[in-house]
Amino acid sequence: MVLIHEQPSPNHDERQKPGAPDMLVLHYTGMESGAVALERLCDPAVRVSAHYLVEEDGRVLRLVPEHRRAWHAGLSHWAGEDNLNDASLGIEIVNPGHEFGYRPFPELQMQAVIELSVVLRNRHGIARHRIVGHSDIAPLRKEDPGELFDWPRLARHGLGLWSDDVQSRDSLNEEEARRALATIGYGYLDEDFGRVLLAFQRRFLPDHMSGKLDVRTAGRLSAIAALHENASLHSECD
Ligand SMILES: [Zn+2]
Repeated sequence: MVLIHEQPSPNHDERQKPGAPDMLVLHYTGMESGAVALERLCDPAVRVSAHYLVEEDGRVLRLVPEHRRAWHAGLSHWAGEDNLNDASLGIEIVNPGHEFGYRPFPELQMQAVIELSVVLRNRHGIARHRIVGHSDIAPLRKEDPGELFDWPRLARHGLGLWSDDVQSRDSLNEEEARRALATIGYGYLDEDFGRVLLAFQRRFLPDHMSGKLDVRTAGRLSAIAALHENASLHSECD
């Protein structure tokens, strides 16, 4: 049972997508402290927000009602869709981020993120392959929630896809890798293939962020693309 504290932010407007939210985007705050982040997320002059903020001690604050559009994703793309504020719920997880001293997410905070995400997924019927990181949907601009975030643990709760498969029969050429990344949902492949590949590694191969299309990366890429193909097929049959 997640205890939620109300901390309304003025930064939201009307969703433009029928049936939304059908996607969940996880972020880190990337600010010096939770207090600084909260102030910013509630400042009408800054025009950013998220639906929820999870403090390092596991406290959960609701900033924006779920039926409203919060302003967390920015310029973004996933699975053929742009402007994902319309489609998604956003959770900001307090962490200084790469700019101010990126560090592991505390246990109480992880428990709260998982509990909250499970509640939101169940309430809105969000498919697991539509639970993503900010860096997945904005790979040229964003690194959050970053390589220290425990996606395998979330996947054990049905949140996001994951595979430990690193077996690879063959390496992939760049064209095949592009197709696999697009199958998973990634955009911006024509703008900067290398940055998108790095975003993939940050999310799905966090101990191997080479930025290169090596055999290990190709193996994981094939495995995750296969999972996404299955997940998309099944959700279309629903
Ligand atoms: Zn973010």
